[in-house]
Amino acid sequence: MDDTVELQALPIVQVIDDAVMPPKRQLVDDDLDAVYPIVEMFHSVQGEGFHAGTPSIFIRFGGCNLACPWCDTEFDKWTNMTLREIIEVMQSMPCKRIVLTGGEPALQDLECLGRVLKPLGYSLAIETNGTIVLPEDVLDWVCVSPKDQEYPKVAIRQDTGDELKAVWLGQDLSLYDELKRGFEHLFLQPCYDESKDVEWNGHNFRATFEVVRANPEWRLSIQTHKWMGVS
Ligand code: SF4
Repeated sequence: MDDTVELQALPIVQVIDDAVMPPKRQLVDDDLDAVYPIVEMFHSVQGEGFHAGTPSIFIRFGGCNLACPWCDTEFDKWTNMTLREIIEVMQSMPCKRIVLTGGEPALQDLECLGRVLKPLGYSLAIETNGTIVLPEDVLDWVCVSPKDQEYPKVAIRQDTGDELKAVWLGQDLSLYDELKRGFEHLFLQPCYDESKDVEWNGHNFRATFEVVRANPEWRLSIQTHKWMGVS
C-alpha cells in the first residue's frame, strides 16, 4: 500500500500529552481508496451498554486523543487499509451492524464511511469519548463514553446521542447533570482495570451496583464479553 499520499487536516481536537494520534487523513478521488488505520476487525456480540447481546462487526481504529490510565485497548499499532480492503474483510462476516470504536473513531473520516457503507446496507454505530463533534446524518447509533472524570479540562463537544455510558471510578454523578439531557439512555459501567487485582475490580463492581440502585435513571452496564473471555 502507498503511504506517500497528500495529507488533509484532522478536525480541531483537544489532544493530551501522551496521546497516540492516527495518521492525517488523505485526499483521494475515490472513496474506496480512502485509507484507515485499523487495529483489528472482528465479528462478535456487543458485550456492554444498550445493545448488549447484539451481533456486530467491530472496527477498531488506531489512535486516540486521550490516554486514560485504565484503557484496555491497544490502539497504538495498526495496519493501514483502504476502505475497499475493509469491505472485503467485512463481506466474510454475516452481519450488517458495524460498531466503530478505537481508540477514538471520531478522528477518522466518518462521512466517507457513511457514503460507502450505508448504501451497502450496513448500519453504523459509534463509541466515542465525545471530545469531537460527530457529523450529522451518518451514524445510526451514537454512544458517548465521556472521560471527564479523568480529564476535567477536556470538553465534551458531542453532547447529544442515543446512549451516554459513563465509566464509574467514584465520581459524583452530578458531573453529568447537564450532559445527560442530550441522551436517551444512561449507563454506568464499573471500571474494569486489568492492571488491578480481582479484589479491586470486585469492589468497584459492587460500588457501581450500589450507585445505580440509588440512582435509578441510570442502568448498570457490565462488560459481559470480558466475563465470557471473548473480544
Ligand atoms: S478515550 Fe477510550 S480509547 Fe481513548 S484512551 Fe480513553 S479509554 Fe482508551
